[in-house]
Amino acid sequence: MSAPIPYIPHAVFSTEEGEAASVPRVLIAPQRYVQGDGVIDHLGRYLSIVPSERVAILIDKAGQQRDGARLLNSLNSAKIESEVVTFHGECSTEEVDRVVEVLQAMATPVDSVVAVGGGKCLDAGKCVAQRLAMPMVSVPTLASTDAPCSALSVMYTAEGVFSDVEFSPRSPALVAIDTRIVAEAPVRFLVAGIGDAMATWYEARTCFDNPRARSVLGARPTLATSAIGELCADTLFEYGLSAVEAVKRSEVNDALESIVEANTLLSGMGFESGGLAVAHSIAQGLTVVPEVNRNYMHGEMVAIGLLTQLVLEKSFDEARKVAGFFAKAGLPVHLG
Ligand SMILES: [Zn+2]
Repeated sequence: MSAPIPYIPHAVFSTEEGEAASVPRVLIAPQRYVQGDGVIDHLGRYLSIVPSERVAILIDKAGQQRDGARLLNSLNSAKIESEVVTFHGECSTEEVDRVVEVLQAMATPVDSVVAVGGGKCLDAGKCVAQRLAMPMVSVPTLASTDAPCSALSVMYTAEGVFSDVEFSPRSPALVAIDTRIVAEAPVRFLVAGIGDAMATWYEARTCFDNPRARSVLGARPTLATSAIGELCADTLFEYGLSAVEAVKRSEVNDALESIVEANTLLSGMGFESGGLAVAHSIAQGLTVVPEVNRNYMHGEMVAIGLLTQLVLEKSFDEARKVAGFFAKAGLPVHLG
């Protein structure tokens, strides 16, 4: 297939060498965000407002066994047809091209792409939807990364090493996250999401305070994303440890709802429009160290990146506060 024309938000929002004053403030966000206990059973109803009548569901084998029947029941009751495509596990150009070819070969075309799974599956779904010019629906089954709400995909080589970032001009048409599924997943995923989300505020603050800094979109951050980032960190400090305990008991409660929102919506909007700094750069760099890449999750690498950033900024009191919280939550606080 021919490669799509790449969309580069910097070319739209940012001038080449312009002064900060000429760079606009930009906020982007998913069109709809739905979170709650059991929402996956109503996915068909939500999809009817996208609108979609025939969806491609991108989901891995384990996800099909666990959630497949509920997903299909929900779509059937809303009279939405579906085609299931198995996700092979890596968000790589090869995998995206393969899924696009499968969908293009279908006798009856689909009209939207619903990705169900972790960050890599959602990111791959965004690339597929972008190539087919269709709405993308994000159904995260983990609260482990800030991927679900954003319009960008982190691309990896077939071996799983970070290679590139691919942008889509459209944010997800719908994000639906079922907190019951999050509560029943291993607690390490929620904990990793807390590490990823905690960096949001400190990275956004660095960008906000530096007039030469740009967000991921090549734009200046808004007051709104700055407030979202700060709320994200406050929520994590307040409810993070209770949410970890709730997931250990496979229980959905208000603390878990707050942390799922922090990890997914607040962190997602915060990083995309608020800006990234050292924490995510270090995390992406760590993916080239095979032992780290094999054994650690994105959010755990971001946790190390955030502590590094706070030390570089000489914010020693905050570094101590964040490290103390990370240690209690179960995140790494040193390379050893
Ligand atoms: Zn992240």
